[in-house]
Amino acid sequence: MALFTGDIGIDLGTANTLIYVEKKGIVINEPSVVALDARTKKVLAIGNEAKEMIGRTPNEIISIRPLKDGVIADFEVTEEMLRLFLGKVYKYKWLVRPRIVICIPSGITEVEKRAVRDSAEHAGAREVFLVSEPMAAAIGVGLPVEEPSGSMIIDIGGGTTEIAVIALGGIVSNASIRVGGDEMNEAIIQYMKKTYNLLIGERTAEKIKFQIGSAYPTGEEKEMEVKGRDLIAGIPKTIKISSSETREALSEPINDIVEAVKLALEQTPPELSADILDRGIIMTGGGSLLKGLDERLRQETNLPINVVDDPLTCVVRGAGKILSNLSHYSKILISDLKH
Ligand code: ADP
Ligand code: MG
Repeated sequence: MALFTGDIGIDLGTANTLIYVEKKGIVINEPSVVALDARTKKVLAIGNEAKEMIGRTPNEIISIRPLKDGVIADFEVTEEMLRLFLGKVYKYKWLVRPRIVICIPSGITEVEKRAVRDSAEHAGAREVFLVSEPMAAAIGVGLPVEEPSGSMIIDIGGGTTEIAVIALGGIVSNASIRVGGDEMNEAIIQYMKKTYNLLIGERTAEKIKFQIGSAYPTGEEKEMEVKGRDLIAGIPKTIKISSSETREALSEPINDIVEAVKLALEQTPPELSADILDRGIIMTGGGSLLKGLDERLRQETNLPINVVDDPLTCVVRGAGKILSNLSHYSKILISDLKH
């Protein structure tokens, strides 16, 4: 039996949970979804398996997103999910109990921080370190976070968009809005309802966003057939929609993100603005993959906008880098009431 000695980094995202094990890399990359027995509240599945069940479950099974809006909506279930994901990682015995770095949304409360820490300890951690997601993302991307010059990170996750300016190992300014990928899915559902009387589920909406979704006309217009239920006739129906329609559907959440970025830029200290002008804005998180979003932000801010290579994994990769040199990064770790 393999014995584990590696320390562990966790990105506890509202949409996806990723776990990194030292010397092994990313071992878990699954949706932050839990399927429960409605009556007994017993957990039936987590991750990919649970996500498959969304919108398809019989009444006795409910699937929930315990971290829905960038905060921990259901505490007990979050803890259970974390425990089960860690269980998948340490199928084998640990030689030494691991140290765990957990990346958390910057909006979570002291009580929630404490709770995240406790659940990792219950799951067997020897020591737990918390780090805010934008900081981990910046380190994952390789930004020089300890230097005096400032960097701006926009992280578009499932539940939130976080905009942070980082310099000298700290977060200089931070804004967070509760608009992210989930809100985009919801906007597509509403658009289909309003325009075509077609009722579609969350997963179909997400598929539309992935395949033809657009935030700015990039010259690459696509079409897609969408199946749903006709609200008037009550029967299944197919409708063809185009990228330009998704721009209309997504205009509200996209405008919200654009406005939040502009506001954050206005509130950035002038010396750091100059750095951002030189270096541009770094976009991370799954939402940054929406087609044309970088171009739209470029048009609106006149700044260079860089989408990183693998925006869905940079937070957990940052956690990995922090693990490999904890003493070096001690300044950026979040201390809470307990420590
Ligand atoms: P979190 O950190 O909140 O867990 P992630 O960074 O994992 O979020 O991003 C998840 C979000 O990114 C989801 O809302 C998902 O729909 C969205 N997303 C992932 N890939 C794409 C894509 N290609 N186009 C648009 N949105 C995407
Ligand atoms: Mg994230």
